[in-house]
Amino acid sequence: MDAKIVLLGAPGSGKGTQAKRLCQELGLTLISTGDLLREAVRNNTPLGVKAKGYMDAGKLVPDELVIGLIKEKLSGLKGGFLLDGFPRNLEQAKMLDTIANINMAINLDVDEQIIVDRIVKRRSCKQCNEVYHLEAKPTKVADVCDKCGGELYQRTDDSEPVVRERLRVYKERTLPLTKFYQDRGILINVDGQGEIDEVFERILKAVKEFKH
Ligand SMILES: [Zn+2]
Repeated sequence: MDAKIVLLGAPGSGKGTQAKRLCQELGLTLISTGDLLREAVRNNTPLGVKAKGYMDAGKLVPDELVIGLIKEKLSGLKGGFLLDGFPRNLEQAKMLDTIANINMAINLDVDEQIIVDRIVKRRSCKQCNEVYHLEAKPTKVADVCDKCGGELYQRTDDSEPVVRERLRVYKERTLPLTKFYQDRGILINVDGQGEIDEVFERILKAVKEFKH
């Protein structure tokens, strides 16, 4: 049976990194809705043109449109896949059910304080947008970009109040979502704390042990 996986995890949980590695390891197609949207816009596809209209107006791209993009992507696809960035709430999960037979939901569990610490220590370059981290990826000279010598700053998105609010919203929306997959018996909770390799091994083990 082909794995049809949705990956759930808070912003800053390391979800994107793990998604890529898992797909490489298991030979799955990674479907990142963020990438799908950007690609559709770049290629001026009919859905891409519509999406661009919303984005240019500073509006959220409607779920129906994102579902349309996923559907297009799935139609030409052979084998298993992993969805990253969708669904984000119960309504989206129900919509997804109409176009795909999801058989595994991995929830990456990371303590809120750890996520806050990870994100608020990020610094970005004003000139080239390179992203650093005060501890995990420091610059050679404090507050100066290694690449271009530009000045570093903290993006508003990375400030503690903004991160806390984002996590609160995430929790509120994700709880019903994890319950939805739990009730179906396909939810796998994985401890997302620790080194990237460590977490990856944990996910891989859980996926391999999972019985459909
Ligand atoms: Zn720079």
